[in-house]
Amino acid sequence: MTSSGQPVVTGADFYLIERSLDPADRQLLLRVREFMEKSVQPVINYYWTREEFPHDLVPGLRQLGIAGMAYSGYGCPGVKNLLDGMIAMELARVDSSIATFFGVHSGLAMGSIYLCGSEEQKQRWLPSMARMEKIGAFGLTEPEVGSGAAGGLTTTARRDGGDWVLDGQKKWIGNATFADYVVIWARSLEDGQVKGFVVEKGTPGFEASKMRDKIALRVVQNAYITLDGVRVPEENRLQGANTFRDTAAVLRLTRGGVAWMATGCARGAYEHALAYARQRRQFGRQIAGFQLVQDLLVRMLANVTSSACLCAQLAALQQDGLAEDHHSALAKAFCTVRMREATGWARELLGGNGILLENHVGRFVADSEAIYSYEGTREINTLIVGRAITGTSAFV
Ligand SMILES: Cc1cc2nc3c(=O)[nH]c(=O)nc-3n(C[C@H](O)[C@H](O)[C@H](O)COP(=O)(O)OP(=O)(O)OC[C@H]3O[C@@H](n4cnc5c(N)ncnc54)[C@H](O)[C@@H]3O)c2cc1C
Repeated sequence: MTSSGQPVVTGADFYLIERSLDPADRQLLLRVREFMEKSVQPVINYYWTREEFPHDLVPGLRQLGIAGMAYSGYGCPGVKNLLDGMIAMELARVDSSIATFFGVHSGLAMGSIYLCGSEEQKQRWLPSMARMEKIGAFGLTEPEVGSGAAGGLTTTARRDGGDWVLDGQKKWIGNATFADYVVIWARSLEDGQVKGFVVEKGTPGFEASKMRDKIALRVVQNAYITLDGVRVPEENRLQGANTFRDTAAVLRLTRGGVAWMATGCARGAYEHALAYARQRRQFGRQIAGFQLVQDLLVRMLANVTSSACLCAQLAALQQDGLAEDHHSALAKAFCTVRMREATGWARELLGGNGILLENHVGRFVADSEAIYSYEGTREINTLIVGRAITGTSAFV
């Protein structure tokens, strides 16, 4: 109880968004929470320090049955966008690397196949990916081409009889060191348009080498990829990916997921900070009783809450088929800025202990730097919204 007799609000779901879920969905969310808190939290710093991926945790994730949640058919549950987003938030609330691994597999890789694959391709690849027996990756970014991927991709696809031959390089590709299916985006030498190809593990000429010494998301296995005359049959070209507009449709879907993840990262940092403030004592009293500490906590809570409410409304638009590029771009830009502020404030609240990995908040600060930049930087997402509201593109 507070000093005025009110119950203490310890939950971070301040505006009770979880109430919008039906009981079965809420149960699933709680199972995800339990898995993350009991199986991931105790071990994740070990892997983060060593830049290793905890393959042992994949069976537990698999059992939750959460891959490809929002898709219908092909072994995917077809749940509401709100639950799908809240699960992304729940994963990142404990660890952003696991959330990113999952987002690359379930969002970017499965999403590319779901949105751009033919019926036969969806039947061929999605069920085993939904069961997480096969893991996916998404290769768009190149060493010299990041934000400018729409017009600047240099990886090429040359038609040769019934095959395509891919040549080029990719950078930053999450999961690619071990993935079974890597979606590679390349420019066709036939029509100059960007097309998507599913490159299967072990294809000759495909080489993925692990990127080392990252200061963020160290558990995620990002790779440099070299494609040297990689031969892919026409059946592995995503039949519905004919221009970069089709690639952008995948990003529209997944940027909403990254906004939820950013909210989860901020929320996890806030919850750690609140717990710390309630037990840490200075000047003979709990630091939670200091006005300046409460100011930090309330700023964090406001960031988490405003982000979650925005994401919930984006999910409602997605559900009704009304979400456009600028809606997910605004959510990604807004929530990642709020996340970066919140994790910094959490670190500040823990004082020196905030930089010790054992207190978790330091990992949230570091990881938030990567989430801030991937899937479109703040600048790029701002330009997408700016173009929508002014009618003028300021990209160049
Ligand atoms: C941890 C991590 C994981 C990733 N995973 C993947 C993955 O799985 N698959 C994948 O394909 N990619 C992945 N990426 C790549 C990511 O999407 C890119 O890093 C991102 O799109 C930005 O590209 P860039 O890093 O090359 O920066 P650049 O494009 O070089 O940008 C550098 C700076 O210039 C600014 N800038 C660029 N153009 C403009 C402009 N027109 N106006 C104003 N400012 C501009 C940017 O905002 C940024 O601040 C990942 C990145 C990271 C860090």
